[in-house]
Amino acid sequence: MQVTVIGAGYVGLTTAACVAELGHAVACVDVDVSKVAMLDAGNVPIREAGLDALIGRNRASGRLQFTIDVAKAAARADVVLIAVGTPRGTGGDADLTHVKAAAREIARAIRPKTVVTIKSTVAVGTARLIREVIAERRGGLDFWITSNPEFLREGSAVRDFFEPDRIVIGADDPEPAARLTELYRPLLDRGVPLVVTSTVNAELIKYTANAFLALKVGFINDVADLCEKAEADINAVVKGVGLDRRIGPQFLSPGPGFGGSCFPKDTEAFAAAGRKFSCPQPLIETLVTRNQARKHQLAKRILGELNGLAKARVAVLGVAFKADTDDVRDSAALTIIPALRAAGVSVSAFDPWARANASRVLKDVAWHEDPYAACSGADLVVILTEWAMFRTLDLPLLSRHMRGSTIFDCRNLMDPHHVASQGFRYVSLGRPAAPRVAPATAAKPAEGGVRLPNLRDAAVARRPVR
Ligand code: NAD
Repeated sequence: MQVTVIGAGYVGLTTAACVAELGHAVACVDVDVSKVAMLDAGNVPIREAGLDALIGRNRASGRLQFTIDVAKAAARADVVLIAVGTPRGTGGDADLTHVKAAAREIARAIRPKTVVTIKSTVAVGTARLIREVIAERRGGLDFWITSNPEFLREGSAVRDFFEPDRIVIGADDPEPAARLTELYRPLLDRGVPLVVTSTVNAELIKYTANAFLALKVGFINDVADLCEKAEADINAVVKGVGLDRRIGPQFLSPGPGFGGSCFPKDTEAFAAAGRKFSCPQPLIETLVTRNQARKHQLAKRILGELNGLAKARVAVLGVAFKADTDDVRDSAALTIIPALRAAGVSVSAFDPWARANASRVLKDVAWHEDPYAACSGADLVVILTEWAMFRTLDLPLLSRHMRGSTIFDCRNLMDPHHVASQGFRYVSLGRPAAPRVAPATAAKPAEGGVRLPNLRDAAVARRPVR
């Protein structure tokens, strides 16, 4: 089958490479000339496990090509997959500018009986709208519009493509549904469940799935706050709850508020859909507000830990919205770091992959190539991303680099008792703070600096503990 993928971002590029791997001939189109040139030169613009090899192999076999020539690519397609960005629009709804533009561009070129499929996450009713956009340009053309929402997760995108929980095909006629079924035949033959439904159902499936997952995250963040007040331990609570098969353990890790290119904008779009159809969605409306507020609250808590220290320095470990990606869109770091800077705190940072993307949007941050350098002279270290390497930080080494001794772990990566035994004040989410034990090594001052007493310990006499 000849497949054209419009958009070479996280979804489009992964889809193009994976569909080529299934045996189809794929042309991947992007308007970003530099991105296409990079891909043509054999370089991959995003970090995604396994993607480089997949692209290399399929380019070499001739099954995968990159181009900026949308008309040429669309003219020979049996299936066109639209995978362009749908950022937050005004009023919370998805901004369909790129989807409409892509539709207009392919409208001139596609052959009769082409299946045009929207992979981007779009507002309910978009398939019908895009059918009209194409029909306006090519009146009388016999084509189909379908919806095939994408559920892959950044960080495991390639694996998610080949081992999805299900494939959803939204089609309002049997013929395009059959063609899309053939597109995914190798996966379906391996037993991947297939849901064939209407376009509007497919659109709503995507938003409902993301809104529900985001609700789990938001809910467990609230439970973590409750645990702190009630002197309970969120880990124990999650374990007991997650073993219930009706609930499951996934998406029950407390954190600094969800981010990324999907949950924040998709929950807003879900709420907007509720308003549009006069069917308000107060659960999701509240979730959206609380999630953003959480990032600000954490910034305040971090500042509280600094306790008004003059010329305070904070080291941020992790700025990607989650581990194993270089994506910083709507990451907690984008709210928390500016809040710290606005309060006059110096910020240094380290992220194994996301530095380049983050440094475009975060100003006045001293970037470092390793976590210990980032923590040098810091009064407080805050962990914002759950990178595996942060679980096993060399704490004595960290202690020697830091000026203060507070670790504020927004991902609960460490064992509180172990960290406390290394002389740190360890703050995590929804868990009781372990009493700090000062080991002999913890008293060493950082080179060229003076080791300060633990900020919070020093403050205890002056203000109430929360
Ligand atoms: P992205 O921003 O990484 O990539 C979008 C790409 O489309 C960019 O390279 C851009 O240059 C290109 N583009 C824009 N207009 C174009 C046009 N007219 N013709 C050709 N190319 C064009 O976006 P993404 O993260 O890949 O997301 C794409 C869609 O998939 C969004 O709707 C998103 O909500 C959805 N989605 C994303 C994920 C994810 O994890 N990133 C997961 C599931 C669904």
